[in-house]
Amino acid sequence: MVIVMKPGAPREEVAKVQAVLERLGMEVTSVKGTQQTVFALVGDTKSIDIGAIEANKHVEKVLRVQQPYKLASRTFHPADTVVEIGGCKIGGGHVAVMAGPCSVESEEQMIHTAMLVKGHGAKMLRGGAYKPRTSPYSFQGLGEEGLNMLVKAREATGLPFVTEVMCIETFDIVEEKADLIQIGARNMQNFPLLKRAGRSRKPILLKRGLSATLEEFLMSAEYIIAGGNPNVILCERGIRSFDTYTRNVLDLSVIPAVKELSHLPIIVDPSHACGKWSMVEPLAKASMAVGADGLIIEVHHNPEEALCDGSQSLKPEKFGHLMASVRKIYAAV
Ligand code: PEP
Ligand code: MN
Repeated sequence: MVIVMKPGAPREEVAKVQAVLERLGMEVTSVKGTQQTVFALVGDTKSIDIGAIEANKHVEKVLRVQQPYKLASRTFHPADTVVEIGGCKIGGGHVAVMAGPCSVESEEQMIHTAMLVKGHGAKMLRGGAYKPRTSPYSFQGLGEEGLNMLVKAREATGLPFVTEVMCIETFDIVEEKADLIQIGARNMQNFPLLKRAGRSRKPILLKRGLSATLEEFLMSAEYIIAGGNPNVILCERGIRSFDTYTRNVLDLSVIPAVKELSHLPIIVDPSHACGKWSMVEPLAKASMAVGADGLIIEVHHNPEEALCDGSQSLKPEKFGHLMASVRKIYAAV
């Protein structure tokens, strides 16, 4: 349930309403705007007498939220959330592109790639230091050493970076170094990890699970917000289907659906969605056309020798071409 107070309701009256709700055993989260306060109630709201609350002259309206997520819903928070990452904004009309290799391989690689993607207009750098690999024999990432290389690339270029956290044990170190913390597709329903992300002061990039429904996706975001961290960016990265020609199937319909149901920004990862470098640019253009708040693109200086995901990585000049065409789509829409 969501309770919207009238604009300009006196603070004492707002506090009184909150106290009444808490006495009823509700967990109350409030958003205080310049004009208005909105309360989201979590608990057994069936016992609440809506009429009695609406009778209060300082209450504008009471809304029953049909969805199981509340804090992530647009009903609770009608305005788009804007997430700020080291000076770069995403959401509410702010669009940004993140780019870089799948995995951090060396300091030179990261600085070189960061400079090139920045030159083409990327606002953030990506690179995995802790890699979730299907095979235990594949390259697992450079760990903390890799994080330090990302820090060096940030120092050299000023680009903030996003990197994945895979477990609670390494959360503190990733949180200390990264500007944006990624929770990958395989961990979208790792609830202890989501709870830890809720306690973080850093923004979170939450990728959609391989077979997650939209509701499950938004419930995972709810975990992070309910834990105290409102800065969540969603990421569509393709879902499993029956066709094996592409690595996954990019669900473009989820972008306008999220815009209807939630206030959170959503970006698209066309690289992991298709798994083929030749399809990344067309899917990036389509993502922009349906209203994505940004993109995350894998770029490698020498994809043939990449330690991970070379087949879907763009060479820097191809990334430049993608940026030019994406700009045209963005201007057109
Ligand atoms: C990644 O971005 O490096 C990654 C592993 O993505 P996903 O979790 O979407 O597979
Ligand atoms: Mn990858």
